[in-house]
Amino acid sequence: MKLQYLGTAAAEGTPALFCRCDFCRYARRAGGREIRTRSGAMLDDRIKIDFGPDSYKHELDFGLDYSAVHSVLITHAHEDHLDVDDIAHRRPTSAHFPEGEPPMIVYGNGTVGEKLARIHSPWLAFRQVKPFQPVDVEGYTVTPLEAVHCVRREEPTRWPVTFEGETYGRWEEALFYLIEKDGKSLLYAHDTDEFTPADMDFLAGRRIDLISLDCTNGRLDLTYVGHMGATENRRMRDRLLASGAADGHTVFVANHFSHNGLLPYDELQALLPGFLVSYDGMTVEV
Ligand SMILES: [Zn+2]
Ligand SMILES: [Zn+2]
Ligand SMILES: [Zn+2]
Repeated sequence: MKLQYLGTAAAEGTPALFCRCDFCRYARRAGGREIRTRSGAMLDDRIKIDFGPDSYKHELDFGLDYSAVHSVLITHAHEDHLDVDDIAHRRPTSAHFPEGEPPMIVYGNGTVGEKLARIHSPWLAFRQVKPFQPVDVEGYTVTPLEAVHCVRREEPTRWPVTFEGETYGRWEEALFYLIEKDGKSLLYAHDTDEFTPADMDFLAGRRIDLISLDCTNGRLDLTYVGHMGATENRRMRDRLLASGAADGHTVFVANHFSHNGLLPYDELQALLPGFLVSYDGMTVEV
């Protein structure tokens, strides 16, 4: 399995769109790995994960061909992960295909489906997925897991998740994905806090080959619920190793960074022993 990280930032990018903070000014000067576009990845050059507003730039920069992509896994409908206007260009007049072209199937939660419902194209289809219910995607077994993201306390019964002993409702059923094929496995877990007991139970003993964790907060220890930083990533790595979800061969990656918690690449790497720190264009093969 080959995972290519196309964009490795949170919603505002780094340098952030309108930001003059010290890190963004440094990133503009330094360039290279300090420039991070909005989140997304490509699996084995054929399955797109998330389709945010920098997806078109990724296609050009990395020599990809989205016209050949027929499966897209969307984690949730936040605008940095789902750009509906750009996906809508897979329609007659914006795109041209030979007769009989199959649709590109977008997999996601019900909120993603609602957002895509306004697009009418023979070349686009939506399939709703549910946590812990595996689906076959081009021969890959894809299992959505429940993300601790989009949380709110007001309606604790709506898509509830348990986090640190407390139950939270969510305004959207955010997901992350376990992907398995030919004895190899990959966990793409972004825009989530530390995992729920149900996720941990599901993953226990699987000895996953590649685990990619949300590190939005970077060096910062923040207490809000919905993302992780370096401290939580290190703790999650220990928990996953202890449960047998991972073992000594597992490649851990920290990914999806906000400018607020970033450090220069090498300093961030030093903060995350046992992890690869992602950068735009990084490819990991397991
Ligand atoms: Zn995000
Ligand atoms: Zn900034
Ligand atoms: Zn999000």
